[in-house]
Amino acid sequence: MIEQAIKGAIRDIPDFPKPGIIFKDITPILKDPELCEGIVDAFVEGLKDTRIDAIAGVESRGFLFGLTLATKLGVPFVPVRKAGKLPHTVKQKVYELEYGTATIELHTDAFKPGDHILIHDDLLATGGTVSAASELIQEMGGKVAGFTFVVGLGFLNGLEKIEPISDKVIVLAN
Ligand code: 5GP
Repeated sequence: MIEQAIKGAIRDIPDFPKPGIIFKDITPILKDPELCEGIVDAFVEGLKDTRIDAIAGVESRGFLFGLTLATKLGVPFVPVRKAGKLPHTVKQKVYELEYGTATIELHTDAFKPGDHILIHDDLLATGGTVSAASELIQEMGGKVAGFTFVVGLGFLNGLEKIEPISDKVIVLAN
């Protein structure tokens, strides 16, 4: 039910941001408060037996439901950002892209060693970004509590990459 509503709201944008890519635009979801509430409720339901001490949301669309979910669960939200955006002391992770590399950062005081951190992003494609986030969290002494996504692009096999990291993976629409 929630899956159909999400799929109905998302639009395909051909050739964005580059020719040949069909971009899944999630912004129409944000215009539907009932659907937004349904998404958060579905995550809460799926996470009810999972220990979560903080939620790490990936820049930038991972901030949208990441903060809402953290607020609903009563836990801190910590932003995972691209290099150079976070103002305080950071720890970095460089990871491979199809062409070149990218760098993500977390504040060094984002959480305490031993904390269970849920990683959230809007969309799972290859899984490269959230895998890098999970490595960064583990290097900082955190445990990965699981992953949540609003949308998954199944054909890119991101699940194969992240299921070995945590068996708690929630993808609301495939
Ligand atoms: P991955 O690292 O899994 O290959 O890519 C996922 C990241 O790229 C996420 O941060 C996601 O926001 C972004 N992304 C890649 N393709 C799309 C898309 O078609 N739509 C949206 N909304 N985000 C995308």
